[in-house]
Amino acid sequence: MSDAPRDTQLLEKVINLAKRRGFIYPSAEIYGGFRSTYDYGPLGVLMLRNVKNAWWRSMVQLRDDVVGIDAAILSPPAIWAASGHLETFTDPLVDCKNCHGRWREDKIDGQCPTCGSRDFTESRAFNLMFKTQAGPVADEGATAYLRPETAQGMFTNFANVLTTSRKKPPFGIAQVGKSFRNEITPQNFVFRTREFEQMEMEYFVAPDEDEQWYRYWIDQRLDWYLTLGIPREQLRLHEHAPEDLSHYSKGTTDLEFLFPWGFDELEGIANRGNYDLTAHSNASGTKLEYFDQVANERYTPHVIEPAAGATRAMMAFLLSAYHEDEVDGDVRSVLRLHWRLAPHQVAVLPLSKKPELETVSREVLGLLQPHFMTDYDVTQSIGKRYRRQDEVGTPYCVTVDFDTLTDRAVTLRDRDTTEQTRVAIDELAGEIWRRTSQL
Ligand code: ATP
Repeated sequence: MSDAPRDTQLLEKVINLAKRRGFIYPSAEIYGGFRSTYDYGPLGVLMLRNVKNAWWRSMVQLRDDVVGIDAAILSPPAIWAASGHLETFTDPLVDCKNCHGRWREDKIDGQCPTCGSRDFTESRAFNLMFKTQAGPVADEGATAYLRPETAQGMFTNFANVLTTSRKKPPFGIAQVGKSFRNEITPQNFVFRTREFEQMEMEYFVAPDEDEQWYRYWIDQRLDWYLTLGIPREQLRLHEHAPEDLSHYSKGTTDLEFLFPWGFDELEGIANRGNYDLTAHSNASGTKLEYFDQVANERYTPHVIEPAAGATRAMMAFLLSAYHEDEVDGDVRSVLRLHWRLAPHQVAVLPLSKKPELETVSREVLGLLQPHFMTDYDVTQSIGKRYRRQDEVGTPYCVTVDFDTLTDRAVTLRDRDTTEQTRVAIDELAGEIWRRTSQL
């Protein structure tokens, strides 16, 4: 972590906006809250889904070498024994001897964040996996874990996917879904929570091609955030020094974002060698190999893994998109979200509640809904409604006014330039498509 924050109040502002406008609420609020869990509201669920869809589009839809899966969250101990998680998926835990607060030793610089004491217990390894039991009998055989990452689903299904998809290296398996970690100190809003969503892809390659694909995926992943609007100066690549790598890793690069507290991890891209497939092969007795018919040789593929957090990425997109600017002498807050990520792409706003305007407005709404997530708002003045849409990042507003009744045209307003253009109703969906496809 380093570098000065952009705006000392940015985090506060975004958390407030998220709550006030229905992006992210603290969980179980009516019962006093449940620490570090969050619920995604009407706008948040749309945006989070858009983040995941944008990832899926780039990683699966636009490629012919990556397929998807959706594996179970509940999993048997055997998976986590083989992967090494039972033994090593731990963080160093210390107790403050003065106030008894519990902390992750590597995050506190030797001083208790609550009381300032420097007197701690010896650090001990705290396993981050949530353990539970499957079925009514609580014996050892019933132990199950909530997955702490989605990646193992790709390794355990490697042979299934290989035979059913008929892919051959280089190819990837992608998955988006919930993961759970009993984090010692969840913090910074949805940056670190105990329940979160991941977007991970395991890319299987021939052993001598791993370095080239590792570099390729670092570039691809950086591009993804840039294309979706995060400025280059808010992103940084941090390559781990060889001595800091985990025992199996041949290279790891963190893709970092400039959070309000400094640069911090958004995604990790790792060259994992053949560690995972070898470990599962040995533990399960199932061969996890690829037979290259052309070269007539059998090998265990090496793996390049871009592992991102969907909820953490959503937070970065919100922070990066938040701006305050001046329009017609007023300060407005605006989320300059890429249209793919904005909860609604369009809002239809009848100038007044007169029935004849509502009728044609609903007709316009019906024309747009099959193509775009569309909001509809008749309350308050048109100026206030524009501000409300700006604040939640809606790229286009469509105003239906009295002229519409005679000219069958509407006003299309652009969030970022606030420019307004008259567009025929029949051409509206096409015009919005034309504009968005250029971004
Ligand atoms: P850290 O060192 O910050 O605990 P990590 O390096 O263990 O994280 P990975 O296991 O590489 O994280 O997970 C991949 C991605 O999943 C992270 O880059 C992050 O975006 C996301 N992620 C991991 N843990 C959490 C969490 N507790 N809350 C939200 N997102 C998370």
